[in-house]
Amino acid sequence: MTGNQAFRYERQPTARQRRFLASAAGTARSAYNWGLAGCKRRLDAGKPVPPAAEMHRLWNADQPGRSWVYGVSKCCGQEAWRDLDRAFANFWRGRKAGHPVGFPRFRRKHGRRDAFRLTGSIKVRPRSVTLPRVGGVRTKEATEKFRGRILSATVRREADRWYVSRAVEVEREDPQPVEGPVVGVDWGLKSFAVISDGTRIASPKPLTQAPRRLRPRQRLHSRKPRGSRNRRKSAAGLARLHRRMRCRRADFLHKAPTDLAKTKSVIVVEALFVQGMIRNHSLARSIADAGWSAFRRMLAYKTRWYGSQLVVGPRFYPSTQTCAACGCVQAALSLGECVFRCAACGAEIDRDLHAARNLAALVAGSSPETQNACGGDGAGRENGPAKLAPVKQEASSRQPASQRTRGNKRL
Ligand SMILES: [Zn+2]
Repeated sequence: MTGNQAFRYERQPTARQRRFLASAAGTARSAYNWGLAGCKRRLDAGKPVPPAAEMHRLWNADQPGRSWVYGVSKCCGQEAWRDLDRAFANFWRGRKAGHPVGFPRFRRKHGRRDAFRLTGSIKVRPRSVTLPRVGGVRTKEATEKFRGRILSATVRREADRWYVSRAVEVEREDPQPVEGPVVGVDWGLKSFAVISDGTRIASPKPLTQAPRRLRPRQRLHSRKPRGSRNRRKSAAGLARLHRRMRCRRADFLHKAPTDLAKTKSVIVVEALFVQGMIRNHSLARSIADAGWSAFRRMLAYKTRWYGSQLVVGPRFYPSTQTCAACGCVQAALSLGECVFRCAACGAEIDRDLHAARNLAALVAGSSPETQNACGGDGAGRENGPAKLAPVKQEASSRQPASQRTRGNKRL
């Protein structure tokens, strides 16, 4: 199978290259903001938003004084306007589908999106990446060998470090099916997730501790006078802390789904948005929520890579309320209840583990009551896993997790 994959490396630019990268990112940002301002004016006047190619023409016509753009690379502007195209497309699509995506926003100079994308002749050597107009820049780690076509390269600054990621069309061998058990994975209340075999995936500390570690730093930062050298220093420190948290989070969100995808034959998860109903408002919890969406997205492609299968349970399947022992459906548990108690048969079991087992039973048919528990929603054993709820790419899965969480909250 072929698919697009991104490879990301940290770069080691020289001082001169640093200045060049910063000015290229600045060009991309100003082109994007210029385009967005123009789009807003047009929308206010009741006119449609121009596409990226048109934007390029307008830029050339309206801004003769801004030919300095070509000092970096023409890609900076073009790709920025393509991003703008996409931002508007997402916005309209979200509106149509009923889960709102925010209106495109201006890029801030010191924001996280300090980045630009290049296309054209991109060469990868064992310890460097050569980009058009930038030249060869050393990478901090060895680049791996791969066969495939390089589609584009994105250069991004995170705090004081520069990264390059290249989108590559890669050919993957079809994987051998994984020999392993069928498991259900449920979003935990106390731990990050619970697997039906009893394993608990603990919430990684960066997820739970992030607010606690960031808050005092943010408070100190906000007390420093605007425009002062101290404020600039503390902003840089804060950005480094944010980056470290992000890296740790990404590390966790990659490793756990990889383990699952490599060792289990079928992984059953709840349909999305079911969790949205029991959302509460603590910050740590909402970070964990975003983590859970990312976790599921990783599971979706990693299962395809490693030859296991991801199955999404039927929407509104009451995995926490259906008794695994007798199959009757109980009233919804409140957020604080950690143990499931069946009023009919008196069974008592840990809430999260119980839900995970119910999910696993959807596919495995491991308990005789499965068909009873599933009712008539077509998720019975005889259908076999292949027919059961194919993994749908939710329309929203193309947005970053953070945006999706914001969207959910508004519902
Ligand atoms: Zn029961």
